[in-house]
Amino acid sequence: MDVKAVRSQFPILDQNVNGSPLVYLDSAATSQKPLQVIEAINAYYRLDNSNVHRGVHTLGTRATDKYEGAREKVRGFIDAKTTEEIIFTRGTTTAINTVANSYGRANLSEGDEIVITYMEHHSNIIPWQQLAKSTGATLKYIPLQSDGTITLDDVRETVTSHTKIVAVMHVSNVLGTVNPVKEIAAIAHENGAVILVDGAQAVPHMKVSVTDINCDFYAFSGHKMCGPTGIGVLYGKKALLEKMEPVEFGGEMIDFVNLYDSTWKDLPWKFEGGTPIIAGAIGLGAAIDFLEDIGLDEITAHENKIVTYAMAQLRTIDGLTTYGPKDRAGLITFNLDDVHPHDTSTVLDAEGIAVRAGHHCAQPLMKWLEVTATARASFYLYNTTDDVDRLVTGLNKAKEFFGDVF
Ligand code: PLP
Repeated sequence: MDVKAVRSQFPILDQNVNGSPLVYLDSAATSQKPLQVIEAINAYYRLDNSNVHRGVHTLGTRATDKYEGAREKVRGFIDAKTTEEIIFTRGTTTAINTVANSYGRANLSEGDEIVITYMEHHSNIIPWQQLAKSTGATLKYIPLQSDGTITLDDVRETVTSHTKIVAVMHVSNVLGTVNPVKEIAAIAHENGAVILVDGAQAVPHMKVSVTDINCDFYAFSGHKMCGPTGIGVLYGKKALLEKMEPVEFGGEMIDFVNLYDSTWKDLPWKFEGGTPIIAGAIGLGAAIDFLEDIGLDEITAHENKIVTYAMAQLRTIDGLTTYGPKDRAGLITFNLDDVHPHDTSTVLDAEGIAVRAGHHCAQPLMKWLEVTATARASFYLYNTTDDVDRLVTGLNKAKEFFGDVF
């Protein structure tokens, strides 16, 4: 992969921040957008802007073709069987809430169990807490090993014949753990449960086949994979989605409306109430083209190289603790002794380096790690070993600066 050529596609990277060239290490929060995506959105608004699935005029047809074309791109990208299984949502959060509020409320009651892990993002915890409260079901957690992984024995121990839903993240946004979701799906199915996979940190970085995983639901966000904010995807198996009720009601999702009841459109539109996120979906389609042109395997290999190099470099810094397993996705969460991660990130920002500091929307995991917050450097296809060197220099500065204070 030619990183220089890749970087030239991201105009935002070509700027100074606080007097130094920008080093962007916060792609797990949101990725930057290539020209191809920016231009696809621009072209839609300049040339084709119209509502979809409504008028028969030319602009309406063009907008509909682009919107539905994006759905087909998503289908191919995650290897789903049909576009009926691809629902556009606002993001991962909305996708998970849709499953909890539709499938969950219809199928769970007292005595049933929902199983998640300690490493989940709040988006994959709170909808299940709310579902447990409203149905009387019990929320259970698969425990973590000391390196931040889970074992299949623990999955087998936690998932029982009472379990109705298993919800796990594919890749941890804090630990970088890559979970064995295919094997977890098999265990869920042996017990008669369905499985939802939170793929927010997986789909941007590795080839994902929902058919191979054999998951029932899979959720991800466009903005973490070079696409725009405000668009995401819920994949669901057709047989399940067909039986599920919509959670948002109004225009676009109906077939017939009578005075006192109504009927719904077919899949996937029955889950897309109101004017959809047309420009967002078109931008996501352009992002998929961009990532596929480079190749997901190339991207994974590049990130592996960067994260391996970064791990080796960070280990040279005295008093720096990293969290998570040896084999990890392209991100490193860490703390410097005696320095609050917000201070670390402020010193880095003064050097033009953007990292995330905080609880990373994973407070239960922070509790398990026995920290209140951490700093996180997350890498993507446009990062280089030079970016890592700048990070290491910045961290040494943070240590020097705060070393004087403490
Ligand atoms: N799940 C994981 C693992 C994430 O990292 C994130 C975002 O940080 C989310 C879910 C929520 O994604 P969104 O805010 O796009 O809905």
